[in-house]
Amino acid sequence: MLKLKTPGWVEKPIQPVNTLQIFITNRCNMRCKGCFYAHKLDNISDMSLEQYKTIVKSYAAYVKKIILLGGEPLLHKQIGDMIIENHKYNISTTIYTNGRNIEILKDLPNIPVEIRIGVFGNTLTEKPLSKIPSITHPVKIVFMLRKDNISELNNVALSAESRFNCQTLYLSSIRDISVTKDYWKDTEETINNEDYALLIQNFMKTEARKPIPSRRLGCAYGARLVL
Ligand code: SF4
Repeated sequence: MLKLKTPGWVEKPIQPVNTLQIFITNRCNMRCKGCFYAHKLDNISDMSLEQYKTIVKSYAAYVKKIILLGGEPLLHKQIGDMIIENHKYNISTTIYTNGRNIEILKDLPNIPVEIRIGVFGNTLTEKPLSKIPSITHPVKIVFMLRKDNISELNNVALSAESRFNCQTLYLSSIRDISVTKDYWKDTEETINNEDYALLIQNFMKTEARKPIPSRRLGCAYGARLVL
Protein backbone atom coordinates (compact mmCIF):
# COMPACT_ATOMS: atom_id res chain seq x y z
CA MET A 1 0.00 0.00 0.00
CA LEU A 2 1.34 3.44 -0.94
CA LYS A 3 0.30 6.67 0.77
CA LEU A 4 0.58 10.09 -0.77
CA LYS A 5 2.85 12.10 1.49
CA THR A 6 4.36 15.20 -0.08
CA PRO A 7 6.74 15.01 -1.83
CA GLY A 8 5.50 11.71 -3.26
CA TRP A 9 4.33 8.21 -2.48
CA VAL A 10 5.66 6.26 0.47
CA GLU A 11 5.11 2.64 1.40
CA LYS A 12 2.87 1.94 4.40
CA PRO A 13 2.20 -1.38 6.12
CA ILE A 14 -1.36 -2.66 5.90
CA GLN A 15 -3.07 -2.84 9.27
CA PRO A 16 -4.79 -6.20 9.78
CA VAL A 17 -8.55 -5.89 10.34
CA ASN A 18 -11.02 -8.75 10.70
CA THR A 19 -12.64 -8.59 7.29
CA LEU A 20 -15.35 -10.50 5.48
CA GLN A 21 -15.46 -10.46 1.68
CA ILE A 22 -18.89 -10.97 0.15
CA PHE A 23 -19.47 -11.44 -3.58
CA ILE A 24 -22.87 -9.83 -3.95
CA THR A 25 -23.33 -10.25 -7.69
CA ASN A 26 -22.11 -12.31 -10.61
CA ARG A 27 -23.02 -9.53 -13.01
CA CYS A 28 -20.44 -7.20 -14.46
CA ASN A 29 -20.50 -4.46 -17.09
CA MET A 30 -17.02 -5.45 -18.29
CA ARG A 31 -15.26 -8.60 -19.50
CA CYS A 32 -11.58 -8.06 -18.72
CA LYS A 33 -8.79 -10.29 -19.92
CA GLY A 34 -7.51 -12.23 -16.94
CA CYS A 35 -10.61 -11.57 -14.79
CA PHE A 36 -10.21 -13.62 -11.61
CA TYR A 37 -13.99 -14.10 -11.49
CA ALA A 38 -14.60 -14.99 -15.13
CA HIS A 39 -15.80 -18.50 -14.27
CA LYS A 40 -18.70 -17.01 -12.30
CA LEU A 41 -19.76 -14.07 -14.41
CA ASP A 42 -23.27 -14.09 -15.86
CA ASN A 43 -25.97 -11.55 -16.58
CA ILE A 44 -28.46 -12.49 -13.91
CA SER A 45 -27.20 -13.55 -10.50
CA ASP A 46 -27.46 -11.16 -7.55
CA MET A 47 -27.30 -12.17 -3.92
CA SER A 48 -30.67 -11.48 -2.31
CA LEU A 49 -30.85 -8.91 0.47
CA GLU A 50 -32.28 -11.57 2.77
CA GLN A 51 -29.32 -13.86 2.17
CA TYR A 52 -26.97 -10.94 2.67
CA LYS A 53 -28.58 -10.03 5.98
CA THR A 54 -28.33 -13.64 7.17
CA ILE A 55 -24.61 -13.75 6.38
CA VAL A 56 -23.88 -10.42 8.05
CA LYS A 57 -25.82 -11.38 11.15
CA SER A 58 -23.89 -14.61 11.53
CA TYR A 59 -20.48 -12.92 11.19
CA ALA A 60 -21.22 -9.61 12.88
CA ALA A 61 -19.55 -10.56 16.15
CA TYR A 62 -16.28 -11.38 14.40
CA VAL A 63 -15.70 -8.75 11.72
CA LYS A 64 -15.03 -5.03 11.67
CA LYS A 65 -15.15 -4.58 7.92
CA ILE A 66 -17.05 -6.06 4.99
CA ILE A 67 -15.73 -5.80 1.45
CA LEU A 68 -18.41 -5.93 -1.24
CA LEU A 69 -17.21 -7.58 -4.45
CA GLY A 70 -18.53 -9.09 -7.65
CA GLY A 71 -18.73 -8.99 -10.58
CA GLU A 72 -19.44 -5.31 -10.30
CA PRO A 73 -21.03 -4.62 -6.88
CA LEU A 74 -22.33 -1.17 -7.87
CA LEU A 75 -24.73 -2.95 -10.26
CA HIS A 76 -26.57 -4.48 -7.31
CA LYS A 77 -29.79 -2.53 -6.83
CA GLN A 78 -29.81 -3.08 -3.06
CA ILE A 79 -26.23 -2.18 -2.31
CA GLY A 80 -27.47 0.83 -0.32
CA ASP A 81 -29.48 -1.48 1.94
CA MET A 82 -26.40 -3.64 2.39
CA ILE A 83 -24.35 -0.65 3.51
CA ILE A 84 -27.10 0.27 5.99
CA GLU A 85 -27.14 -3.32 7.26
CA ASN A 86 -23.37 -3.27 7.88
CA HIS A 87 -23.67 0.07 9.65
CA LYS A 88 -26.35 -1.35 11.91
CA TYR A 89 -23.73 -3.77 13.29
CA ASN A 90 -21.04 -1.09 13.41
CA ILE A 91 -19.22 -2.78 10.52
CA SER A 92 -17.51 -0.55 7.95
CA THR A 93 -18.02 -1.09 4.23
CA THR A 94 -15.48 -1.20 1.44
CA ILE A 95 -16.62 -1.51 -2.18
CA TYR A 96 -14.34 -2.90 -4.85
CA THR A 97 -15.48 -1.48 -8.16
CA ASN A 98 -14.33 -1.18 -11.75
CA GLY A 99 -15.49 2.46 -11.56
CA ARG A 100 -17.61 2.41 -14.74
CA ASN A 101 -20.79 2.98 -12.74
CA ILE A 102 -19.18 5.28 -10.23
CA GLU A 103 -21.77 8.05 -10.48
CA ILE A 104 -24.16 5.81 -8.55
CA LEU A 105 -22.20 6.66 -5.39
CA LYS A 106 -24.19 9.86 -5.06
CA ASP A 107 -27.36 7.79 -4.54
CA LEU A 108 -25.95 5.69 -1.72
CA PRO A 109 -26.90 6.27 1.92
CA ASN A 110 -25.06 8.99 3.80
CA ILE A 111 -22.76 6.53 5.54
CA PRO A 112 -18.96 6.61 5.08
CA VAL A 113 -17.90 3.96 2.58
CA GLU A 114 -14.41 3.20 1.33
CA ILE A 115 -14.24 2.96 -2.46
CA ARG A 116 -11.44 1.05 -4.16
CA ILE A 117 -11.27 1.26 -7.94
CA GLY A 118 -9.43 -1.63 -9.59
CA VAL A 119 -7.58 -0.86 -12.83
CA PHE A 120 -5.22 -2.68 -15.18
CA GLY A 121 -3.51 0.50 -16.39
CA ASN A 122 -3.93 4.17 -17.12
CA THR A 123 -4.66 4.26 -20.87
CA LEU A 124 -3.22 1.20 -22.61
CA THR A 125 -5.33 -1.62 -21.25
CA GLU A 126 -8.94 -2.73 -21.36
CA LYS A 127 -9.55 -1.52 -17.81
CA PRO A 128 -7.89 1.90 -17.74
CA LEU A 129 -8.10 4.58 -15.09
CA SER A 130 -8.47 7.22 -17.81
CA LYS A 131 -11.97 5.89 -18.65
CA ILE A 132 -13.29 6.45 -15.15
CA PRO A 133 -15.05 9.77 -14.59
CA SER A 134 -13.51 12.04 -11.96
CA ILE A 135 -15.63 12.25 -8.84
CA THR A 136 -15.49 14.16 -5.59
CA HIS A 137 -15.98 11.07 -3.40
CA PRO A 138 -12.59 10.00 -1.98
CA VAL A 139 -11.32 6.86 -3.69
CA LYS A 140 -8.39 4.50 -3.43
CA ILE A 141 -6.90 3.04 -6.59
CA VAL A 142 -5.85 -0.59 -6.89
CA PHE A 143 -3.48 -1.24 -9.79
CA MET A 144 -3.34 -4.91 -10.79
CA LEU A 145 0.12 -5.37 -12.21
CA ARG A 146 0.74 -7.99 -14.85
CA LYS A 147 3.50 -8.64 -17.40
CA ASP A 148 1.99 -6.48 -20.13
CA ASN A 149 1.12 -3.38 -18.09
CA ILE A 150 4.32 -2.66 -16.17
CA SER A 151 4.93 0.43 -18.29
CA GLU A 152 1.67 1.89 -16.96
CA LEU A 153 2.77 2.04 -13.35
CA ASN A 154 4.08 5.61 -13.31
CA ASN A 155 1.08 7.01 -15.15
CA VAL A 156 -1.41 5.17 -12.96
CA ALA A 157 0.23 6.64 -9.86
CA LEU A 158 0.27 10.13 -11.37
CA SER A 159 -3.30 9.95 -12.62
CA ALA A 160 -4.53 8.54 -9.30
CA GLU A 161 -3.16 11.58 -7.58
CA SER A 162 -3.91 14.29 -10.12
CA ARG A 163 -7.39 13.26 -11.30
CA PHE A 164 -8.77 11.68 -8.14
CA ASN A 165 -6.73 13.33 -5.40
CA CYS A 166 -6.18 9.75 -4.36
CA GLN A 167 -4.27 9.40 -1.10
CA THR A 168 -3.85 5.64 -1.18
CA LEU A 169 -2.60 3.51 -4.04
CA TYR A 170 -2.54 -0.26 -3.78
CA LEU A 171 -0.22 -2.22 -6.04
CA SER A 172 -1.20 -5.80 -6.52
CA SER A 173 -0.23 -8.73 -8.71
CA ILE A 174 -2.80 -10.34 -10.95
CA ARG A 175 -3.74 -13.86 -9.90
CA ASP A 176 -6.60 -16.21 -10.58
CA ILE A 177 -9.06 -18.34 -8.67
CA SER A 178 -11.10 -19.66 -11.58
CA VAL A 179 -9.29 -22.98 -11.94
CA THR A 180 -8.59 -23.85 -8.34
CA LYS A 181 -11.89 -22.33 -7.03
CA ASP A 182 -10.47 -22.00 -3.52
CA TYR A 183 -6.99 -20.53 -3.66
CA TRP A 184 -5.26 -17.88 -5.69
CA LYS A 185 -2.92 -19.12 -8.40
CA ASP A 186 -0.40 -17.44 -10.69
CA THR A 187 -1.48 -17.07 -14.31
CA GLU A 188 0.58 -16.64 -17.47
CA GLU A 189 0.24 -12.89 -16.90
CA THR A 190 1.57 -12.96 -13.33
CA ILE A 191 4.96 -11.34 -12.79
CA ASN A 192 7.22 -13.73 -10.86
CA ASN A 193 8.00 -12.82 -7.26
CA GLU A 194 11.61 -11.74 -7.81
CA ASP A 195 10.75 -9.47 -10.75
CA TYR A 196 7.75 -8.08 -8.89
CA ALA A 197 9.87 -7.20 -5.85
CA LEU A 198 12.49 -5.54 -8.05
CA LEU A 199 9.85 -3.61 -9.94
CA ILE A 200 8.31 -2.18 -6.78
CA GLN A 201 11.69 -1.43 -5.20
CA ASN A 202 12.79 0.36 -8.34
CA PHE A 203 9.57 2.35 -8.52
CA MET A 204 9.89 3.42 -4.89
CA LYS A 205 13.54 4.38 -5.29
CA THR A 206 13.11 6.37 -8.48
CA GLU A 207 9.72 7.40 -9.86
CA ALA A 208 7.61 7.44 -6.67
CA ARG A 209 9.28 10.54 -5.29
CA LYS A 210 10.45 12.19 -8.46
CA PRO A 211 9.50 15.87 -8.93
CA ILE A 212 7.25 16.65 -11.86
CA PRO A 213 7.91 20.28 -12.82
CA SER A 214 4.62 20.91 -14.62
CA ARG A 215 2.63 19.84 -11.61
CA ARG A 216 4.71 21.92 -9.29
CA LEU A 217 3.70 24.99 -11.28
CA GLY A 218 -0.04 24.50 -11.24
CA CYS A 219 -0.45 22.60 -8.06
CA ALA A 220 -3.47 23.51 -5.96
CA TYR A 221 -1.80 22.14 -2.85
CA GLY A 222 1.17 24.47 -3.04
CA ALA A 223 4.70 23.23 -2.43
CA ARG A 224 5.68 20.17 -4.41
CA LEU A 225 3.19 17.47 -5.17
CA VAL A 226 5.11 14.73 -6.83
CA LEU A 227 4.62 11.21 -7.94
S1 SF4 B 1 -14.41 -5.52 -13.87
FE1 SF4 B 1 -13.62 -7.06 -12.45
S2 SF4 B 1 -15.24 -8.60 -12.28
FE2 SF4 B 1 -15.68 -7.35 -14.09
S3 SF4 B 1 -14.75 -8.49 -15.79
FE3 SF4 B 1 -13.24 -6.99 -15.10
S4 SF4 B 1 -11.98 -8.06 -13.59
FE4 SF4 B 1 -13.86 -9.26 -13.89
